[in-house]
Amino acid sequence: MELSPDFFAFTYLIATVFFIYGLKALSSPKTALKGNFSSMLGMALAVGVTLFHPEIKSLIGVIAGLVGGAVVGVALALKISMTAMPQLVAVLHSFVGLSAVLVALGTLLSREGSGEIGTVGLIELAVGSVIGAITFTGSLIAFGKLQEFLKSAPLSFSGQHVFNLVWTLVMVALGIQFAIYPQFIAFAIMTGMALVLGVLLVLPIGGADMPVVVSMLNSYSGWAACATGFILGNPLLITTGALVGSSGAILSYIMCKAMNRSILNVIFGGLGSEQETSGAQTGTQKVKSASVEDVAFLLENSSRVIIVPGYGLAVAQAQHSVKELYQVLTEKGVQVKFAIHPIAGRMPGHMNVLLAESDIPYDCVFEMEEVNGEFSTTDVALVIGANDVVNPAAKSDKTSPLYGMPILDVYKAKHIFVSKRSMKAGYSGVDNALFYYPNCSLVFGDAKATCQALIGAVKGE
Ligand code: NDP
Repeated sequence: MELSPDFFAFTYLIATVFFIYGLKALSSPKTALKGNFSSMLGMALAVGVTLFHPEIKSLIGVIAGLVGGAVVGVALALKISMTAMPQLVAVLHSFVGLSAVLVALGTLLSREGSGEIGTVGLIELAVGSVIGAITFTGSLIAFGKLQEFLKSAPLSFSGQHVFNLVWTLVMVALGIQFAIYPQFIAFAIMTGMALVLGVLLVLPIGGADMPVVVSMLNSYSGWAACATGFILGNPLLITTGALVGSSGAILSYIMCKAMNRSILNVIFGGLGSEQETSGAQTGTQKVKSASVEDVAFLLENSSRVIIVPGYGLAVAQAQHSVKELYQVLTEKGVQVKFAIHPIAGRMPGHMNVLLAESDIPYDCVFEMEEVNGEFSTTDVALVIGANDVVNPAAKSDKTSPLYGMPILDVYKAKHIFVSKRSMKAGYSGVDNALFYYPNCSLVFGDAKATCQALIGAVKGE
């Protein structure tokens, strides 16, 4: 029995509702699990129903793809550590981009010369292929930077913005030519140029701005999927792509605001990032180090403590130890809060996920703008594995690549302790002015070991 187009349209609509609810629920840690289940259900419905689509002539290829993809997906999800999640996300975005290019290419090759593709269809092919190609190579470069295969510092040449502009105009001209005279050669050159543009756009973006790039590429991948939906005449792909594209764009906007960066800067590849970067270690300043016993003594004799988690907490997998530290201090009557910077870690919401994993109560976890006013009345700011997000150079040093980015004002606390393993810089590669403040001491060692030692010392073991 052949299912009617209305049946597909209705089921796709239901799947879209699941996706929209999923996105809504993902906006709070309390409902995030439900959101994930809702989106999974929507996806299962969408894929399951599509298997019965009359345009599918043979199921063998589709099922082989599904099984192969599922095996690789499950293996990766089980193997990959939380700290490598951004790289994985970047690679997955690149797959979406590549598939948009391949769908456009396949559609063109299968119908070329048949006169079946009208001008609107040709524009869809050109747009789908260009967005897909930019997403593909841009995401691979983002992956390289996050995985540290490539330097996280900005990489550009003088006059690059003018070059990018001319390059883009030539690409647009080729796209117009392709829509009027559909020749494969114009399509191929335009797609090749878009592949190069993806590299040119992401290479100049420095380490500190990578969070926005990752969410921007997320948005691009959505628009690439949306364009693919138009090419294939699939309404579900259009709505899903638009949901991913627009939510990624909103997230990019929120992150730009959080980092005080201009969105144009990110879209056009590090516009204005040529400024001389400072922050190399001078070697003349001295840092103080503190023993676990000193820190524990001050912690248990404090009234107010703010813990600032960062990427190092994720590396050390210290979230459960931090929860225990929170408990022992709370039992001793200390008020303990957690302060989350919007770009702490390596992906949006990274720290919220970590803290939620160890069941730290939501009501003592605060976003930057909620908690920043409280550091000046805080006895101890305990920074665990965070670096760039607490660097006061972002406020005071105009030559710093971090300049202008809002930070957690830990430098205002009475005492600051920073748990880290060495004097190495954070992701941006910039030395941290905080470490040289008179009220700051470093506690060297792995974050988990440090937290466990602190718990023991506070308990008097
Ligand atoms: P940073 O990368 O600035 O610093 C991490 C710190 O953790 C380092 O000082 C490191 O020092 C320390 N560390 C690493 N491993 C351990 C360990 N096992 N135990 C103790 N300390 C450890 O992290 P932040 O969270 O402060 O800032 C995030 C940075 O990542 C920003 O620059 C942001 O732009 C970038 N970024 C963020 C993304 C996002 O979406 N959130 C995406 C991509 C990049 P040491 O090696 O000496 O131990």
